[in-house]
Amino acid sequence: MSNQDPKLSARSDRPSNEEVADQIQKEWMFKIKRAPENFVIRCGIVPLILGLLEALLIVSNNFHYFGYWEWFITKSSETRDSIFPFLPLLDPYSLWRGWIVPSSLASATYIIVSLLSLRHELYHWKPELLGHYLESAKESKIGVYVPQAWLDFAFHIYEDNHREYINNRIQKQTHKALNDSEEFLKILRTVASNVFISTLMVLLFWILLLQTKIEAENIVQLPRSYVPPLQGIIWYLLNDLFYFYPHWIAHHSPSSDAFYYKLLPPTLAKALYTHFNRSHKLHHKTKANLGIAAWYCSPSEQILFNIFPALIGPLFTQFLASTLPFPLSQIWGTHLIVLYVWLMAASAMSVLAHTGYRSKWNDPGKHDLHHERAFNPKTAVNFGTLGFFDWVHGTKSRIPSADAEAWRMQRDRQAALWEASRRNGVELSRAQMDVVRQPDHSQEWVDKTI
Ligand SMILES: [Zn+2]
Ligand SMILES: [Zn+2]
Repeated sequence: MSNQDPKLSARSDRPSNEEVADQIQKEWMFKIKRAPENFVIRCGIVPLILGLLEALLIVSNNFHYFGYWEWFITKSSETRDSIFPFLPLLDPYSLWRGWIVPSSLASATYIIVSLLSLRHELYHWKPELLGHYLESAKESKIGVYVPQAWLDFAFHIYEDNHREYINNRIQKQTHKALNDSEEFLKILRTVASNVFISTLMVLLFWILLLQTKIEAENIVQLPRSYVPPLQGIIWYLLNDLFYFYPHWIAHHSPSSDAFYYKLLPPTLAKALYTHFNRSHKLHHKTKANLGIAAWYCSPSEQILFNIFPALIGPLFTQFLASTLPFPLSQIWGTHLIVLYVWLMAASAMSVLAHTGYRSKWNDPGKHDLHHERAFNPKTAVNFGTLGFFDWVHGTKSRIPSADAEAWRMQRDRQAALWEASRRNGVELSRAQMDVVRQPDHSQEWVDKTI
């Protein structure tokens, strides 16, 4: 007895980490603790922020007036007047708030979200960059005064973080988003010109909106709390409608089973397909998804696929509301604050759909599968944004949601195993630490239809 290792005998009395984890997963406390993360994984970060903004609106309208919108209106007028002091035509509902502010907000959102994902995506593409930057930082003018151990530590934190992202990659190992830096620069140039085109489209959109009863005197009033969610549903459905059909046509050559070929005159159907398909091929040139390449497409595709579907909803509700008598026209019209939030959400979602990394903040599985199967008409899926028209036409794949669910369950298991190890005092084995894996479909994705 006395010869036996006390650690070993202690271990043999205990249940294994796996057994304890099984028990933990049944506990209410564990489920409650996991709920916030699972909620974020299921909803995604953008709908969550939209929900919080709606809650803020309800509080501001009914319980406590924060005055943030009034503050924004005053400050933005002051800024406008300091930049354009000699342009009296810029009244409160003028180009400043209807054009410059919304297009800047949408572009800034696109750029910020792209850069946040790009820091990991670049290292996925060229992992040696990390080492290169560490060495350069150490030799830089400031770096020489910073203790080397601190720099190593900072880079290791980043490296671990980056490795986690790499593990969460949902694309095939063989797929790389970029071939070389030349292609990357081409993407940047194309995206920059598309940002510019989008800005011009917002100007056109605002000129159209100014033809309606957008009332200047009520600009400071916040919208009723129930209006943004209802408008959001209409805008999102219209966005899905006007994105789905041109996109679907771009992926389907006129053939006997293409429904649009039966509806339209054959020459028109063929012309539409030829134009959309040629144009859309540029967007599908990146073999794997890359956040910043969400707007990597031809100018006509940017206008037709990305900008028009996003602006048609706000335009539609404003024109419709203008036919109503006052105050209904005010209540149901498109409010600037809702428009800003919508444009920022649309920009963020288009980048997030293209990151190719699954995380608790974002699940790009749906659009990733679309890119993966791109131009194989038999297996191509997920042509819409919301998924409603994909559901109507039977082109909605079940694979991404099943994958996301499997991934979420693995994360629950991992959390239970860590808790089991803490309670048990037994370290996790390598296999137990490696529980979370992205589903690898490899060949299977190509063969499965939906
Ligand atoms: Zn895409
Ligand atoms: Zn496509």
